[in-house]
Amino acid sequence: MTISMIKKILVTGAAGFIGSHLCRALLGRGHKVTGLDNFLSGNRANIEALAGPNFHFIEHDVVALYNISEIYDEIYNLACPASPPHYQQDPIRTMMTSVIGGFNLLELAHRLNARILQASTSEIYGDPTVHPQPESYSGNVNCIGPRACYDEGKRAAETLCFDFHRTLGVSIKVARIFNTYGPQMREDDGRVVSNFITQALAGKDITLYGDGQQTRSFCYIDDMVAGLIALMESDAGITGPVNLGNPDEFTMEELAEKILELTGSSSALSCQPLPADDPKQRQPDITLARQVLGWEPKVSLDKGLAKTIAYFKAQSA
Ligand code: NAD
Ligand code: UDP
Repeated sequence: MTISMIKKILVTGAAGFIGSHLCRALLGRGHKVTGLDNFLSGNRANIEALAGPNFHFIEHDVVALYNISEIYDEIYNLACPASPPHYQQDPIRTMMTSVIGGFNLLELAHRLNARILQASTSEIYGDPTVHPQPESYSGNVNCIGPRACYDEGKRAAETLCFDFHRTLGVSIKVARIFNTYGPQMREDDGRVVSNFITQALAGKDITLYGDGQQTRSFCYIDDMVAGLIALMESDAGITGPVNLGNPDEFTMEELAEKILELTGSSSALSCQPLPADDPKQRQPDITLARQVLGWEPKVSLDKGLAKTIAYFKAQSA
């Protein structure tokens, strides 16, 4: 790579699941990467594993003002707890992370004339009444429910992105990320894939919420990282929002059965109450991502789960 193609990139949420994979991929492309995180739901080991001459780390909360003196060409804003038990633990802080944190990073992008990618989410569609969900669907979020701190925070962050773009000309990219999984998720992350795998490997009951007929569509981490980089590197006219996710849809009961089969576990299914406002169905319409980014996921659920199971097995060995 020639020096002019080497970029200086800030990744917030770098100690987290997606952020740490993204940093590794950007370093692999020869870029200079600064990771920023306050370790709310991230993992110090993820940062230690990135150590090297092109990686720099700042321990900081995106909600607090910070006089960053470095220059960056690109900012990926991934800072926000993403697992329902984590983001509901301190809901006010969660919403402020998206809103004030998003504002602070947009201000930084404006000052540095940097391009910024906002990690938005399929949760902005709430409990969708349109299926699959295209970007034109404006969603069905219960703004006073327990998930609203996350959903409405992310919706407000999208609004801020578009207002900074329209009024100040900031170059924005908004990615609506659908359920993503893979190695480096925390064992106690609390989301369904890591819960089911760790329970199956330990021979514990599989905690199936509700009747298990609610659906999700799971994207393997390598596909997601490729999509995020493709969006960041797309033509300036492409602002998004762009759905990024794997359109293969499964019920949670099907997911549990698949994980039991792949782990060879004899764990029993244990039905638990369905959390409030849990979306009944979710599947991304990725027509736009295919058209404008030439991107689509390549890793099947079976292959991705096998890699994720191998990771968790190695962790517990
Ligand atoms: P994660 O919880 O593993 O990572 C989030 C990271 O952000 C953590 O390292 C955490 O410590 C850090 N963080 C939280 N609040 C912060 C703050 N105030 N200041 C600085 N750092 C802070 O979650 P993830 O799955 O890696 O998600 C990354 C991003 O992608 C999030 O913004 C999330 O909303 C979005 N997203 C993820 C998914 C998914 O399925 N994984 C789906 C949709 C959207
Ligand atoms: N879920 C489950 N058991 C668990 C964790 C989650 O059945 O141990 C269900 C949850 O109710 C939801 C789906 O799995 O319907 C996905 O949950 P997750 O927390 O992974 O993501 P999100 O709800 O944010 O899509």
